[in-house]
Amino acid sequence: MKQSANGSRVIKAPRGTTLQTKGWVQEAALRMLMNNLDPEVAEHPDELIVYGGIGKAARNWESFNRIVETLQQLEENETLLVQSGKPVAVFRTHSDAPRVLLANSNLVPAWATWEKFHELDRKGLIMYGQMTAGSWIYIGSQGIVQGTYETFAECARQHFGGSLRGTITLTAGLGGMGGAQPLAVTMNDGVCIAIEVDPTRIQKRIETKYCDLMVDTIDEAIRLASDAKHAGKALSIGLLGNAAELLPEMIRRGFIPDIVTDQTSAHDPLNGYLPAGMSLEEGKAMRQSDPPQFVALAKASIAVHVRAMLNMQQSGAIAFDYGNNIREVALHEGVANAFDFPGFVPAYIRPQFCEGRGPFRWAALSGDPHDIYKLDEALLREFAHNEPLCKWISLAQERIAFQGLPARICWLGYGDRAKFGKIINDMVASGELSAPIVIGRDHLDAGSVASPNRETEAMKDGSDAIADWPILNALVNTASGASWVSVHHGGGVGMGYSLHAGMVVVADGTPEAAARLERVLTTDPGMGVVRHVDAGYELAAETAEKHGIHVPMMKR
Ligand code: NAD
Repeated sequence: MKQSANGSRVIKAPRGTTLQTKGWVQEAALRMLMNNLDPEVAEHPDELIVYGGIGKAARNWESFNRIVETLQQLEENETLLVQSGKPVAVFRTHSDAPRVLLANSNLVPAWATWEKFHELDRKGLIMYGQMTAGSWIYIGSQGIVQGTYETFAECARQHFGGSLRGTITLTAGLGGMGGAQPLAVTMNDGVCIAIEVDPTRIQKRIETKYCDLMVDTIDEAIRLASDAKHAGKALSIGLLGNAAELLPEMIRRGFIPDIVTDQTSAHDPLNGYLPAGMSLEEGKAMRQSDPPQFVALAKASIAVHVRAMLNMQQSGAIAFDYGNNIREVALHEGVANAFDFPGFVPAYIRPQFCEGRGPFRWAALSGDPHDIYKLDEALLREFAHNEPLCKWISLAQERIAFQGLPARICWLGYGDRAKFGKIINDMVASGELSAPIVIGRDHLDAGSVASPNRETEAMKDGSDAIADWPILNALVNTASGASWVSVHHGGGVGMGYSLHAGMVVVADGTPEAAARLERVLTTDPGMGVVRHVDAGYELAAETAEKHGIHVPMMKR
């Protein structure tokens, strides 16, 4: 453990094949917890904050230390329980059971508000786990970039003839997830203006090659963007400023983008959205001194922001909500037509979920990028028929800088996940890869989340708010032998608006791992297919039929 310049601890996952623990599964949990807090990966590692507002990897430093010590001692037939980032028990289970079970930020529904959460957080009783922060499978902005790329690609197909060339996308928020937007737009050959209040966030995206340049005036941003648009060039511009001030100002100047969206952390008005007219320092001070007043100002600015997005939509821009619950906050602030623009899942992503596809990912525990490149080659060989996938891998190799442990994101669906899991395990067993591989996914996936303003918005049968599905997902993945399983509340959209589950499974090259991988990588995407069969999606029914998934009530 090193010290940073400001005296705080610098966490980095161990690399190589020397174990700090009693087995590779425990080692994977330890390394992925530490990787979440690597300064290359996390947004504010000194506060244990990984991404998404205050999404944390452990409750506090004492809990972090105790989790590390417990993982180091954990036997291969024991399971560690983690309650909102604090290790609370170790039980003897069995070798095929998960080594860690986590529950983060869960509140009884009638108490599930930010006010209650913050009260309990101040008492040190709870932690916000977001999605992959508290479940130790965040891999930096790369984790979202393919999803963001797919979203903009589908938007381009639906509205712009298949490419974003010659279009300008306006967005805000260059944090852990939002930082993927400029790269995803330029990968689709478009121009992106991304407004961000914190210059260090823009700088980080420039350093990691997600964003091309930073400007601090609207005029310069509009001039550069318009020139690139007319020249048909891809360009991404980080514009320093506040979205609630700059969007209305753009409208006043007659500037209407082709696409408008947003990824500030509007889901958490206290920690994720800076009100108009306030400096970062003033915001930091007021969050401490007068939280209710800060929240009131943030919500009022969010309303201004959404009104401007609606205005741009009425003037011809394609507008969509990018999963931060900004419409709901605005609706409560009196913007009656806040839901006039759709969420990104019903607009662009749902057909993928019907086939069990979603943000699948893997990380090389060795720390050696060559392990990831060898897996890229295996993918290109084994899935050569899948043109978009092959295009994605080539683009990712060319454009994406690794953050922390080398990792890859790749949207694979039912059937392909289990197939690739076996390939990975075989490559670990044969020594082709230098160490085991950890395989996981975002909670934003086909069958692991109930979130009526996001992943389950506008379900065909109206089942948006039914949260049995993520619970079944966690239970079946536990029964199948995932390496760690988590159940969270409030990820993406904030308290009261979502329940979701995560899973990670380790390929250590053993026959036991092969069996676990086969089971988990079938049940997990299988839940996505059956959830959408149940809601009445024809594509999901076709997928279930094609793969012989047993759905007792399916009518064919
Ligand atoms: P983050 O907290 O790391 O970043 C948010 C950024 O917004 C920060 O850099 C902050 O400085 C900036 N910001 C705050 N107020 C602003 C304002 N008024 N004007 C301009 N910039 C402002 O969060 P993140 O991990 O990037 O996630 C962003 C949002 O997207 C969250 O609500 C998250 O839940 C959601 N999300 C979406 C997806 C998706 O696929 N669409 C996935 C995960 C998360």
